[in-house]
Amino acid sequence: MTRKILVLPGDGIGPEITAQASRILAACQTQGLDVEIEEGLVGGAAYDEHGEPLPAVTLEKAKAADAILLGAVGGPKWDKLEDLTKRPEKGLLGLRKNLGLFANLRPAITYPQLASASSLKPELVAGLDIMIVRELTGGIYFGQPRGIEVRDGQRVGFNTYVYSESEIERIGRVAFELAQKRGKRLCSVDKANVLEVTILWREVMERLAPEYPDVELSHMYVDNAAMQLVRAPKQFDVMVTGNMFGDILSDAAAMLTGSIGMLPSASLNQSGQGMYEPCHGSAPDIAGRGIANPLATILSVAMMLRYSLSEFELAQRIEDAVGKVLDDGLRTADIASEGMRTVSTSEMGDAVLAAFEAA
Ligand code: NAD
Repeated sequence: MTRKILVLPGDGIGPEITAQASRILAACQTQGLDVEIEEGLVGGAAYDEHGEPLPAVTLEKAKAADAILLGAVGGPKWDKLEDLTKRPEKGLLGLRKNLGLFANLRPAITYPQLASASSLKPELVAGLDIMIVRELTGGIYFGQPRGIEVRDGQRVGFNTYVYSESEIERIGRVAFELAQKRGKRLCSVDKANVLEVTILWREVMERLAPEYPDVELSHMYVDNAAMQLVRAPKQFDVMVTGNMFGDILSDAAAMLTGSIGMLPSASLNQSGQGMYEPCHGSAPDIAGRGIANPLATILSVAMMLRYSLSEFELAQRIEDAVGKVLDDGLRTADIASEGMRTVSTSEMGDAVLAAFEAA
């Protein structure tokens, strides 16, 4: 059956990096990947054309797609829009909400070739391969009631940290299943010594565990998890946590790898439909100069093949091709180091494509 992929380049460096990722997708098609690829507008580019960051036509295409590849959205051009609902970021949030993308997968992988770019000692991070599974549509970021109001003569701000058993269970299952396919170790991160909501979180994880007897489940308080991530990050395989803890821990883990230009991500819904994007933003400071690192976006294609299209072999070939170009000493400016060859966005795309085709 022909599956559908929607490519949404977005703003800033988005079009430059998705162009390189699209070349890899096209190469996969010639290797037998049966997909139909469409493009659409989102973010500031969509606002300029349609007056909306997520036009109805884009949302319809997104709903019909098996997977979406997104570049990045936003930039100074739209920062002054007074109507906040028209801001580029709303396009991204609208996609997440409308597609029910509740599971955010954030791998933190340090390629041995780039270990010296990390802020930690190379021996602590070389070969690091963690998958952080963050709940994306619930928790304190969305809980009601919320607001700022006057109480006893002063303003009080409040939010609600809430998770239902079913919300915890569905993210738990995603994490257990991922752990089964990787190192079979799952660390659930909570604050069960203080917060009732995470006492329930821990209970639900424990309840699921017997269904995944091959996975070793452990629990860690979030403060300790933050500490362990910078002390001995290689102890982790898969980590699962709620929205806010996941937001913070996944960014900390990203920095262990040295460059934000290398990190892909996936956001999945119940039916396996997913949106795939680099972890970084639209980098307006370097947009249009042909120097952006396209590897996070190319690696997002590999994640798409693995998690939405079950094309494991092609996914592995892309990841191996990226490893090969790094071995060959090619670097974009953000990961440049002495003795290595600094290349442009499209030269990096050329090299990955050649390595992919040669494999
Ligand atoms: P950013 O990630 O865009 O950039 C941070 C720094 O990293 C910049 O110096 C940039 O040049 C560099 N960088 C990022 N990606 C790179 C790449 N692929 N290659 C080389 N260097 C790269 O974050 P920011 O500057 O805080 O935000 C810029 C814009 O992006 C804002 O409008 C923000 O709202 C938006 N943003 C979008 C997303 C998204 O679309 N998912 C995420 C974060 C930020």
